Amino acid sequence: MAKVLVVEDESDIRQMLVQHLRGAGFDVVGVGTATAALESARTEGPDLILLDLMLPDMDGFEVCKRLRRDPLTERIPVVMVTARGSEMDRVLGLELGADDYITKPFSPRELVLRIRRSIERQNPAPANGDLLAFGELTIDVPGHRVLVRGRSVDITATEFRLLTVLARRRGRVQTREHLLQEVWTHGERDEIDVRTVDTHVRRLREKLGVAADLVETVRGVGYRFGGG
Ligand code: CA
Repeated sequence: MAKVLVVEDESDIRQMLVQHLRGAGFDVVGVGTATAALESARTEGPDLILLDLMLPDMDGFEVCKRLRRDPLTERIPVVMVTARGSEMDRVLGLELGADDYITKPFSPRELVLRIRRSIERQNPAPANGDLLAFGELTIDVPGHRVLVRGRSVDITATEFRLLTVLARRRGRVQTREHLLQEVWTHGERDEIDVRTVDTHVRRLREKLGVAADLVETVRGVGYRFGGG
């Protein structure tokens, strides 16, 4: 499930957006200030940020610039929400790194389409849809196999899920909480805590051998899959 960070200071609009995007199948986090947006972009590792231009503490252009300067957030697609045509021109002209823009008022359907498109652009399906290849590592998704330098690695089902969740969102930080949510089932999660994620990542790295560096630790936050 793709995660969208909604940044909108007007709480009515924010709630409407959050509800609508949840209804469309996204995992959604909503915040009301630029400061909270920059913080959540680092800690939540969203797949996309829907960014209102007019915020109380900082404008959307500045937020976008800061996101692009931070290695943790530089690759997250940003869809800018603007109110007026002149602002739209600035979005287009300033090349601040926004991937798309949408002008208020917009239809919820149009918004969902734009968001899906931007996320897909950032995560193109691999040429061979069943194989994910990153340098010396190949993940055979339907075959549930992991190969390092062409040799099969003995990996558990949980480690396999962990690796594919990380790899499919490569380049973006993923918190332990997010990984716990994505990799372990609801019932399993009751039995374990976030440190379990660290244990599994450690074992996974040992098994990956020369490809272990693909799973990077982001200190104090979580993990990130490199190789992008
Ligand atoms: Ca606003």
